[in-house]
Amino acid sequence: MIPVVMPTYSRIDVVFERGEGPYLYATNGRRYLDFAAGIAVNAFGHAHPYLIQALTEQAHKLWHTSNLFRVAGQETLATRLTDLTFADTVFFTNSGAEAWECGAKLIRKYHYETGNPQKTRIITFEQAFHGRTLGAVSAAKQEKLVKGFGPLLDGFDQVAFGNLNELRNAITPETGGICVEPIQGEGGIRTGSADFLRGLRQVCDEFGLLLFFDEIQCGMGRTGKLFAHEWAGVTPDVMCVAKGIGGGFPLGACLATEKAASGMVAGTHGSTYGGNPLAMAVGNAVLDLMMAPGFLDQVQATSGLLQGKLEQLIKANPGVFAELRGMGLMLGIKCVVPSGDVVAKARENGLLLVPAGDNVFRILPPLNIGEAEVNEAIAILDKTAKEFAA
Ligand SMILES: *Cc1c(COP(=O)(O)O)cnc(C)c1O
Repeated sequence: MIPVVMPTYSRIDVVFERGEGPYLYATNGRRYLDFAAGIAVNAFGHAHPYLIQALTEQAHKLWHTSNLFRVAGQETLATRLTDLTFADTVFFTNSGAEAWECGAKLIRKYHYETGNPQKTRIITFEQAFHGRTLGAVSAAKQEKLVKGFGPLLDGFDQVAFGNLNELRNAITPETGGICVEPIQGEGGIRTGSADFLRGLRQVCDEFGLLLFFDEIQCGMGRTGKLFAHEWAGVTPDVMCVAKGIGGGFPLGACLATEKAASGMVAGTHGSTYGGNPLAMAVGNAVLDLMMAPGFLDQVQATSGLLQGKLEQLIKANPGVFAELRGMGLMLGIKCVVPSGDVVAKARENGLLLVPAGDNVFRILPPLNIGEAEVNEAIAILDKTAKEFAA
């Protein structure tokens, strides 16, 4: 008999009943150090008092009105996000995939409105992940995402991540944009080099293409800057954001320049829930915490500490771990043994991690952890590695 919850996930048999800061408490009586953070979502851990206050205060006032009306929280959050970034305008969604869809539609609309209706195709990269809508799986093309779901949406061409020559060769008169995760998450924490990202910007400028960054996982402070592309000193024309932006409340956003979004006029796109007052209250509160003076510097300092200790750990356990990847607190370890086994054993030892492609496991702690949590995680990983050796 099919389970009442559609069995599309291979779920771990643990039920959490409570969270506090970086810890989760399960019905089995155990406490876990949460370096999964809901897949880079719980940027401030669990039950952060400031976020609880923002959500509950709003819950007593107003939940939802629809986008038939102005929503004050959207205007506030969009003003703040545009002040902080390359963007001039923001569309709010409930999830990452929807934010990505908005970006993809925007690219086509831009070229349609500017006299190049043939420029409908978007170049994407191998091992990409952009979500689970038909559009997003058609763009990512990975067999595990698309098998059995055809016919796929036409309009996506794929090249190797990091290869600018292959990219240039893939451009045709129908190409309208390039979509890339500055750091691939699901694909195995594969970091696009600054040169690669700058090269993409150059190509887009040369060919009149829109550059579309998917910062759903790597954005919102995850790398120690508000957005990962800041490290490379380039800006996109369009960017989708989600995960950390709501700190656990469903929220996403598509940011764009005025020029790129010029076709997105009244009636062209929408969402019933997108940017509702509850989501906006939490989104604004998350941004308060993230932009507090010194916070992102602290993320960088914590990252430095954690990366140093992970390098030692890898060196001390060469039969288990192969390589450290990533930036900030978006880290991954490529394993010698199956990475899924490391994730399972670490969980038995009280540490939650996230699997990824390429035999990597992801280390995605809340951004506000400190030295004590770093040390605790390292001790558990070391114990876990020793169990493999034994
Ligand atoms: C998680 C993720 C998505 C999809 O977000 P959903 O909220 O699951 O729809 C898209 N792109 C990247 C890079 C992601 O990490």
